Amino acid sequence: MAHAGAADDPRVKRESDEAGTWLCPTEFDRARLLDMEERLQGARAVMFGALGVGFAISVPWLGWVPLALVAVQVVVYALLSPLIAASTRPEYPIAFAVVLAQVLIAVAVALTGASQSPLLIVFLLGIVGLPARFGTARVVAAGLLLTELLIFGATAGVDPSGFAAHPARVIVTAAASFGLVAFAHALMKAESQKRSESVFDSLTGLPNRRALETRFEDLRADARRTGRPLALLLCDLDLFKSINDLHGHQRGDAVLVDAAQVVRRALRPSEQVYRVGGEEFLVLLPGCDLDRAVPVAERVRAAIESAQPGGLPVTASVGLGAAAGEDIDFDELFRAADAALYEAKRAGRNQVARAPAVAAA
Ligand code: GH3
Ligand code: MG
Ligand code: MG
Repeated sequence: MAHAGAADDPRVKRESDEAGTWLCPTEFDRARLLDMEERLQGARAVMFGALGVGFAISVPWLGWVPLALVAVQVVVYALLSPLIAASTRPEYPIAFAVVLAQVLIAVAVALTGASQSPLLIVFLLGIVGLPARFGTARVVAAGLLLTELLIFGATAGVDPSGFAAHPARVIVTAAASFGLVAFAHALMKAESQKRSESVFDSLTGLPNRRALETRFEDLRADARRTGRPLALLLCDLDLFKSINDLHGHQRGDAVLVDAAQVVRRALRPSEQVYRVGGEEFLVLLPGCDLDRAVPVAERVRAAIESAQPGGLPVTASVGLGAAAGEDIDFDELFRAADAALYEAKRAGRNQVARAPAVAAA
């Protein structure tokens, strides 16, 4: 969920600082990288196919080297794919593939006329996907720098006198690389920001219902595999309408912002909280049955009561549902927690109520 823009977003960063690497500082960056890797598959196949056909037709003028190097890259990619899928640090094999591609292009350029090589333009293909995969400006800058070094290394470095005589093609390629990366990076930042806006609530910064759907699917699959239970906690601020009525909507917003922070701080990092309604927060508790979820719910309730969000004596009621089994149904689990919440309200508010456990098929 994930999801500059979102990569620079402290809300996302907070979750997984310890898992960060230089290439992927947050889990969000990694998720985006893998997502992009999958989305780019089709484009990559088209690119390799087109280059393969073009190089095959050009064998009389370029020889076999470019075609062979395309084959090398395709084979390396095929070998890396399972590693990318299985690795907890997929950014390393992916970065290796990206760097290797540029190095192979440099070799092909050096062997097909260096400064006069018609292959110089292929360097642009090697970097256009870089900002899509790695959202961090420093990684994009490093990739660009490497490309520039390879462009000049494969030309001026290999044949200095040839470069001195005809440098224009090299210079144009180097300059165009800058422009291309700048464009691609800006486009990706815009896209990433949009995506972040679609899964985060703009008032509280909490992930929203859409983010919850994705997360729930993951947790349901985990529960099916491991047989572990899953609890759902629904926390609703008490008499919130009267806060708006008495103190104004703006103050009500301030209460919501504070309450969101309070709930989040009362939970562990793995216990993500979502804003699912006006003054309603939902927490998924993987591995928790009702008995284990009760203390968590109590902690959330007590935290709101003592925090005075927005400077007001606000309380909250909490409903709990839990399920285990093959196919946990979100609607059923939600209904159970909602019914429990209703009970908590009915019994006088500012308390936790639990639903009977939902048995999944
Ligand atoms: P209960 O204890 O039964 O939950 O009572 P309540 O007043 O909290 O419940 P009700 O559902 O009647 O009212 C919820 C209110 O939350 C109504 C709505 O105006 C307000 N609300 C919803 N979203 C926002 C928001 O983003 N900002 C503000 N300030 N108020 C909101
Ligand atoms: Mg409500
Ligand atoms: Mg309420």
